[in-house]
Amino acid sequence: MQTDHKRVLLAAPRGYCAGVDRAVVTVEKALELYGPPVYVRKQIVHNKHVVSTLEKRGAIFVDETQEVPEGATVVFSAHGVAPVVHDEASRLQLKTIDATCPLVTKVHREAVRFAGEDYDILLIGHEGHEEVVGTSGEAPEHITIVDNPDAVEHVTVRDPDKVVWLSQTTLSVDETMETVRRLREKFPNLQDPPSDDICYATQNRQLAVKQMAPDTDLMIVVGSRNSSNSVRLVEVAVEHGAQAGYLVDYADEIDEAWLEGVATVGVTSGASVPEVLVRDVLDWLAARGYADVKPVVAAEESLLFALPMELRKELKARGQSDKMRHDAGSLH
Ligand code: SF4
Repeated sequence: MQTDHKRVLLAAPRGYCAGVDRAVVTVEKALELYGPPVYVRKQIVHNKHVVSTLEKRGAIFVDETQEVPEGATVVFSAHGVAPVVHDEASRLQLKTIDATCPLVTKVHREAVRFAGEDYDILLIGHEGHEEVVGTSGEAPEHITIVDNPDAVEHVTVRDPDKVVWLSQTTLSVDETMETVRRLREKFPNLQDPPSDDICYATQNRQLAVKQMAPDTDLMIVVGSRNSSNSVRLVEVAVEHGAQAGYLVDYADEIDEAWLEGVATVGVTSGASVPEVLVRDVLDWLAARGYADVKPVVAAEESLLFALPMELRKELKARGQSDKMRHDAGSLH
């Protein structure tokens, strides 16, 4: 293949979404306010670099609330928690800061509402993913998890006329629509969620990749393996025409052999990935002749969430700014 015109297509939007940004700043602000250690239940966001950087600053990541010493401060991650986790934290007299993304909270509210109306809720999402564990914990007796289109054949409900689907926020839009299509074949009166559960950030990042993929020989997605939306971006790229797609946490994980015969490299990053890691990948590629970078803009984003209320109150009480703006040295 002719590789004279080496170039990079750079997706926009990419990287940090409003929910991740807020969650990371929440831990940073908590560290500033209370001093280390600040406990964080689960990875605050699914990104290796973010977690290790916050660890160096004094965050301690734990898997379960019981691991947090009594009376300490704990931050709940962007993926959300089930009500039992809140109960447990109050039993242990922990000071909690809830960094659940407001768009995940929205899905929790939908689950509570439909369960209250005695619906069977079909939650499309990945079994075991923290967000799905949290959402299904809102109404376990009403929720059935549907992992993928093939799982539909085994789904049963009490009343096919009283059934609604909801979803995890970070799924593949196309695969989810296929799951919904099959569910509706089985349950023609299946009700839709009041609004999209797959969030704007997931949708926009997939849209950019879909635009780039047909012109891309190799797609490099910066993101961690446990990041659902990042993994989906690799799948979407390959499904839409990229010759190959790989997920890397850092530039030094790129294998030079992947560039063999490659003219156009697509670059994007998952919603939990700081831009600095993308810049490292661009530098790595430029050093190998891929210095011509063309942005592919699929959407503009300007959403910014306010910090969690618990934190805003504390910041205000101390006369400090409670605005969602980064200080120098933040993880951007
Ligand atoms: S990916 Fe979407 S739902 Fe998840 S934190 Fe970001 S904005 Fe929120």
